[in-house]
This record gives sequence, structure tokens and C-alpha cells, in this order.
Amino acid sequence: MKIKTLLAGVAAGAMIIGLSACSSGSGGGGEGGGDGGLIGVAMPTKSSERWIQDGDAVKSQLEDAGFTVDLQYAEDDIPTQVSQIENMITKGAKALIVASIDGTTLTSVLQDAADADIPVIAYDRLIRDTENVDYYASFDNFKVGQQQAWSMLNGLGLTELDGTPISGAPAGPFNIELFAGSPDDNNATFFFDGAMQEIQPLIDSGVLVVGSGQTDFEQVATLRWDGETAQSRMEDILTSTYSDGSKKVNAVLSPYDGISRGIISALTDAGYTVGDEWPTISGQDAELDSVKAINSGEQYATIFKDTRELAKVAVAMATAILNGEEPEVNNTKDYDNGAKVVPSYLLESQIVVKDNITEVLVDSGYWTEDEIKG
Ligand code: BGC
Repeated sequence: MKIKTLLAGVAAGAMIIGLSACSSGSGGGGEGGGDGGLIGVAMPTKSSERWIQDGDAVKSQLEDAGFTVDLQYAEDDIPTQVSQIENMITKGAKALIVASIDGTTLTSVLQDAADADIPVIAYDRLIRDTENVDYYASFDNFKVGQQQAWSMLNGLGLTELDGTPISGAPAGPFNIELFAGSPDDNNATFFFDGAMQEIQPLIDSGVLVVGSGQTDFEQVATLRWDGETAQSRMEDILTSTYSDGSKKVNAVLSPYDGISRGIISALTDAGYTVGDEWPTISGQDAELDSVKAINSGEQYATIFKDTRELAKVAVAMATAILNGEEPEVNNTKDYDNGAKVVPSYLLESQIVVKDNITEVLVDSGYWTEDEIKG
């Protein structure tokens, strides 16, 4: 996986450039042999491309800033993540950057971190139910959910990509199905609530109909964001609700590209074909296979969250704390973890559809033209 030079002008992250973490080759070189001390980075899984991008970006940026890095992936196994973090504490980590698997399971190990005076930054996913998380680096997750809804509604011809209603839009009714992310991930509720703020009024007015009737978060959630779990739920829905041939699914709200791929498999197996009443499907993360699926028309859209920029925020936070400075934050009200409101820096995300793949993903250096075509 590649980490490309950060381009100037990638909007939101640019504001933190002044902080000392953003070195341009400061001492220590790139091999992790810096004398800034050890930083532990705990990532959830390598099974999703985005976390590999995140891990690589955080590691290389920390090394550029002169730190040594212990980067660990837990393959979505909670006890593994807990013991990896325990190890980091034992090895003398000066700070921890943690993207949790289950946001509620780190209370005890983070007490150990607090007892050793180790600051903790929650990376992308809020860590819940503990005082011992100092800062949160993420995206505006409610807005991500709105963007997922807007992209689905855009595919149906109902709104522009920014949510503006299209005049003379079709009256429907359109048959839709809803998917949400993992119920133990704080982000999943934010995404779903953001999306439903846009979708619910159209359900109420009869423009959209959830064919299966499954609209509660608990009914539509997908444990561990697992694509196969989503595929089998979609298969069940296609069998129970759409198999008599009287109606077709017109759109599916999907919160993550891996879930979208499961949904696409279920649709293909049920005889749906691209170009012929193929539903509009949303996504998230701009994973390579899904960008290709957008190119081929299987997926309508994804949400791009620039992992390089998120890494930059987390590294700036860690560096500021270790320098005795206050990290820059831009939200001090929305992320209550059950024990406190965690001061946050939230980045902006972008909708990607077929027409802007090059502009958003290639021109920014996130993927190359060859990778997208290959
Ligand atoms: C992240 C998403 C990602 C999902 C599944 C969420 O916490 O914010 O970007 O799609 O986890 O990995």
C-alpha cells in the first residue's frame, strides 16, 4: 500500500499543518529509529483496505516526526486488541493511538494506560465508557451518513449530491432497503442517524418504501461490518420480499464498501443485472474494488475519507500532547462517550460517483489511474 506525498490544498487537514508533528524530514529518519520515544498504534483489522491505509499513514508520519512506532492489527478479535494495547503499555509507549474494534471493551486496559500517564487518542472510532481517552480524531460522522443518503437519493433522481431536492423529481414509490454498520462501533449510529434524517421524511411522504419493513437500527445493523453477514441478510430479504416478481429493489443504503459488495453479490445471485433495473447502492471508504464497481455501474457511490489527513490529525495531536501543548480541536460537544465529552477534531468527507472519481481520488494521489482501471 502506498502513502503518497500529501498534496497541498487537501482542504480540512491543511489547518493543522502548523503543528510540529508535520515535519518535513525532521531527525530520526524514516526507519522508526527516532529518539522521540515509542508510540503504540492499535488498528482493528487488515481485512478492510482502509485500515491498512490508515496504519501505514500513521506509522510513516510518526516516524517522520521522529517517533518509534509499534503498529498492531487485531483481526477484529477483541481480546487480541486488549493484549496488544497491554503490550504497548509494558513496552513503555509514550502515547497510544487506538482505532477500537468494540468501543466499549477497553475500559480496563485504558485504566492501566492512565495509571502509567499515557495519553490516549481515539482514532476514527470513539472509545466509550471511560474517562481515559484524551482526544478523538475522526470525520463528521453524522454528515457522512447524510452523504450516504444523498448519494442514494441522487441515484434515484430525487436530490442533488448535496441533498438539494430536484424539482420535477419522480414521485416514486421506490422500494429501498437499509443497512447499518456494527452496533458496537459508535460511528455506526452516527452514520445511520445522519442517513435517516434525510430518508425518513421521504418514507413518511410515501416516495420511499422499505419493502422488508426493517427500519430499526437493531434490525439493519451488521456485526463487525461483515460483508458476508450483509450478503445473507440481503438474500433473505430478496427471498422474503421480492421473489414473487411483483416488485424490485430500487435502492439500498449501505454504510461501507465491504457491505455494498455483499449486497451486490446477493443481487447478482438473485438475477439482477447491471443496467437493467439495477438498484442504486451507496458505500463508504473508496476501497479499490468498490471504486472499480462504481466505474462498472454495480455501485452508485462511495464516501471518501482521506486516511492521510486523518493520520495527520492524530499525529499532530500526539505530538502536541507530548510537547506539553494543547492539540487543536474543532468540536467539543458532539462526542460524549458515556463518561465525558471527548474533545475532537473532525474532518470533512466527500461523495464519490462515477463522474468525479478522477478528480477526487486520482488527482489527490489516493489511487492511481492504473489501480482504478486494473
Ligand atoms: C469507519 C468506516 C468504516 C467502518 C468499517 C467505521 O468505524 O468510520 O470508515 O467503513 O468502520 O471498517
